[in-house]
Amino acid sequence: MRFNIHTHSEHSHDAAVTIDALCERAVAENLSGFAVTDHCDCEYAADPLTFTRLLDSCDDTLRARARYGDRLVIAAGVEIGEALYDRDFARKVIAARPWDVVLGSVHAVRWPGWEIPFSMIDFSGCDDAFLQAYLRRYYDDLREMAETEDYDVLCHLTVPLRYLCGKFGRRVETAVYDGQIDGILRVVIERGKTLEVNTSGCTAERPYFMPDEAILDRYLAMGGRNLTVGSDAHTAERLTNGLAQAEAMLRKKGVTELTYYLRRQPVVYRI
Ligand SMILES: [Zn+2]
Ligand SMILES: [Zn+2]
Repeated sequence: MRFNIHTHSEHSHDAAVTIDALCERAVAENLSGFAVTDHCDCEYAADPLTFTRLLDSCDDTLRARARYGDRLVIAAGVEIGEALYDRDFARKVIAARPWDVVLGSVHAVRWPGWEIPFSMIDFSGCDDAFLQAYLRRYYDDLREMAETEDYDVLCHLTVPLRYLCGKFGRRVETAVYDGQIDGILRVVIERGKTLEVNTSGCTAERPYFMPDEAILDRYLAMGGRNLTVGSDAHTAERLTNGLAQAEAMLRKKGVTELTYYLRRQPVVYRI
């Protein structure tokens, strides 16, 4: 069996693929099922589209389930981004539909003057001290989100590195955040939540997991058992990107079971 807990459709601001096209691709690629998890970026709560798009996403997903449900498990999900920006809005979205899974993410840290997704920030002119402080704030925000907000799966832990290192080629000392990261992993374990292995950065030649293997090793050593894989696909072509690589990597670590969600309850399957 193979599931994908994390995908985006035309109901996300940064994707154009229809849910039907994702379903067709899933069938063609022999996926057992996937969750549609469109963006709810809470710093944009004032834009009415942020809310209505999510209702459309859920309604379309439920319609797709009626059409493809004999071939696929289709979960209606939402990716709550930076719930700390507007906790009431996050709660309103979660209450608005019968979601199968709620992803918890941080794409924008609470940094005065830069309250926008870090994917939109030009970090090229920032000095090392700034980058370090910014990253500390990311982990602090993620920790607070993980501790206080409603979610099932904590997503793409370490994602700012993709921009700082991948996009801007900055060298970042990562060991200095181990304490903060371990604190987040502990919260995930204690609250019975699930940690995502995000494969969006994988290429055929080179795996790239968020979080990386060193962090996953620490999660397992701490007793963390709930893991899920998500390609974070924004196109049909990338629907299964990296999933097999992640499963192979996890199997080598002795992981034999992964989790997806239905009606916000974990469902365990073997890999
Ligand atoms: Zn995300
Ligand atoms: Zn996403």
